[in-house]
Amino acid sequence: MDENKEWYNLKEINDEIWCISDKTGVNSYLVNGKTKSILIDTGWGLGNLAELVQSLTSLPVKVVLTHGHPDHVNGAFQFTDLYITPEDMKLLNTFYIKETRQGIIENFKAIAPPNFSKEDWINAKINNTFLVEEGYLFDLGDRKLKVIKCPGHTQGSICLLDEKDKILFSGDSLLARPVLMNLETSLPLSTYLNSIKHVNDYSDNFSIILSGHDENPVDTIILEELINGISDILEGKIIGKLEKTRFGEALMCKFNDTAIIYNENNL
Ligand SMILES: [Zn+2]
Repeated sequence: MDENKEWYNLKEINDEIWCISDKTGVNSYLVNGKTKSILIDTGWGLGNLAELVQSLTSLPVKVVLTHGHPDHVNGAFQFTDLYITPEDMKLLNTFYIKETRQGIIENFKAIAPPNFSKEDWINAKINNTFLVEEGYLFDLGDRKLKVIKCPGHTQGSICLLDEKDKILFSGDSLLARPVLMNLETSLPLSTYLNSIKHVNDYSDNFSIILSGHDENPVDTIILEELINGISDILEGKIIGKLEKTRFGEALMCKFNDTAIIYNENNL
């Protein structure tokens, strides 16, 4: 457990919600209800996330994946009851192929916890996966989490709305740092704009955003900034600055509290 404590940083959002960040800065969230707990995303899965979650709840745990990228789904093998959209299910499966995992783990050899078993991680398999669609409700007894689809960052990205505490869990769809729309999995910027306008229809029902990578709760102002900024990009009023990113050259537009990285050929 001590090694686990070093790999994960635990932060209490309130009495029932925990933010679990791994050493690479990927956030998972545990939401404890009355009859069930929901874990949102699973990080890289290099530490023992399942053990940590068990120390925070004695209720049955369902895991919902905000999208199918490796930094959010690679720990999913530690759990049995998984939920993801059909669109990103395909993506999830690509990260449970031995050869893919072998390639990924090379990047983490130096930082993985001492008791980490590379062999087990590479050979990990997922099972019991269920599909979710727009409007799907996770009922935790005293609160519900609603699925709001947000295609853009990936085709099957979702946000989760907790009306009880007025929280939007946004995965990588809304961040107080650059939203990556320049990836192989990214849809056109105009599709993403429509998606975040759809999320914005629920804006009266949440007052903070808990994202997949930010250290702290994020102000909802980022949603407005992204809607206005991307509208300006698509109307040709502004254009991003060409920058080198981890995923090749792309255009970056910075706003006050957030930013977007996109490709000119995928508007
Ligand atoms: Zn992502």
